[in-house]
Amino acid sequence: MTETREYDIIVVGGGMVGASLACALAGSGVRVGVIEAVAFQSDTQPSYDDRVIALSCGSSRILRAMGVWPALEREGVTPIERIHISDRGRFGAARLDSKTEGVEALGYVVESRVFGKVFGPALARAEGVDLLCPARLKSFDISPRRVRVLVEHEGKVRDLRAGLLVAADGGQSVVREQQQIKLWRAGYGQTAIIANVTPEKNHANVAYERFTDTGPLALLPMTENRCSLVWTAHDAEVPALLDLNNQAFLRRLQERFGNRLGAFQEVGRRVAYPLSLMHVRERVRPRLAIIGNAAHLLHPVAGQGFNLGLRDVAVLAETVSDASRAGQDVGDMVVLKKYSDARRGDYLRTTSFTDGLVRTFSNNIFPLTVMRDAGLVALDVLPPLKHLLARQAMGLAGRLSRLERGLPL
Ligand SMILES: Cc1cc2nc3c(=O)[nH]c(=O)nc-3n(C[C@H](O)[C@H](O)[C@H](O)COP(=O)(O)OP(=O)(O)OC[C@H]3O[C@@H](n4cnc5c(N)ncnc54)[C@H](O)[C@@H]3O)c2cc1C
Repeated sequence: MTETREYDIIVVGGGMVGASLACALAGSGVRVGVIEAVAFQSDTQPSYDDRVIALSCGSSRILRAMGVWPALEREGVTPIERIHISDRGRFGAARLDSKTEGVEALGYVVESRVFGKVFGPALARAEGVDLLCPARLKSFDISPRRVRVLVEHEGKVRDLRAGLLVAADGGQSVVREQQQIKLWRAGYGQTAIIANVTPEKNHANVAYERFTDTGPLALLPMTENRCSLVWTAHDAEVPALLDLNNQAFLRRLQERFGNRLGAFQEVGRRVAYPLSLMHVRERVRPRLAIIGNAAHLLHPVAGQGFNLGLRDVAVLAETVSDASRAGQDVGDMVVLKKYSDARRGDYLRTTSFTDGLVRTFSNNIFPLTVMRDAGLVALDVLPPLKHLLARQAMGLAGRLSRLERGLPL
């Protein structure tokens, strides 16, 4: 028999962004149903996987306001106290420091799996949130008056109804595809290889961003003096890099990164992620909002993807809870347009910042290399410029939502 359930919002995808939205709305009076296909701690979970996330200061504030920060800290959060940006084989370098910026940390490093460990139980006990996981989305229908979703969960078909459908189902979003939302997409011809490595010296909570002729290479400080490596390489180079044995891989890494952290001693499992830039042409439609990776894919060079998705969450949660308190229909275009308009500036800033970094630093055209060296030196010696970059990297540029200011919804 089919069971019917009523919500205000149905979120498809309980990955890092969808789960954050449900946690943000917990206790707000907005009833949320979350449909997630894969169990949170499963080895095949595509969101809570081997990636390691550099969280901006702004994101840490959102997660604190949502009440999940203490649990994340218990599982493992590493503060970033300094960022060192350099250009391999050239003289330019810039440094950002948490002390100069007057903050406890420039950002924090958290493993994606840690998010899975924390979000699973947090959603199970969240007030007003109903988690259906693992559940299979059978079909959905968006009509002018409501949203209807059929899911298979615990061997039963459930008929879910709501005023708003939120697509948080990642880069291959089925909801987005079925709604035929047009995309803007560009390839980089680059793939990120990620792995955890252990250096000889103490990482001292420094994050390194090193630009090389084949693409950027980042090392983020982690617990137990490990570093999370994100090595961006041309697509054609990737199979050979994955095939190298551990010793040969570490030698190649040493050659690319240099000796700032001494000799690299160990490397964990290597996983490859092809990279592209994508964003949807419409973020909202009547009774539909698209957030997180379903709405935008970014190069991981500046570690902005989840941070941007979390800011989607903060603004959407604020907009729908205000609308619900005012007795408005949360799926109405007046409400959704308010959300979409509020997000436009951040999308433009973050996308152009990230894309600009990749394109400027991924080639060897002579005037550009001189300009970027001069740019890095200028950045290092001009405090206002440095402060501006730090604000963008810390996720504190532009208008801040209530959750980012540490206030309740
Ligand atoms: C190498 C790499 C490094 C990165 N580093 C950083 C970083 O340092 N900082 C940062 O901010 N960002 C970083 N990112 C980006 C970040 O990983 C993503 O922005 C983030 O994972 C997006 O989360 P999401 O929930 O939107 O999508 P996803 O993580 O893709 O989650 C989607 C969820 O939806 C579920 N789902 C899909 N289809 C369905 C369906 N039909 N029914 C039910 N459920 C469904 C999936 O099972 C999954 O749980 C990095 C990305 C890469 C590739």
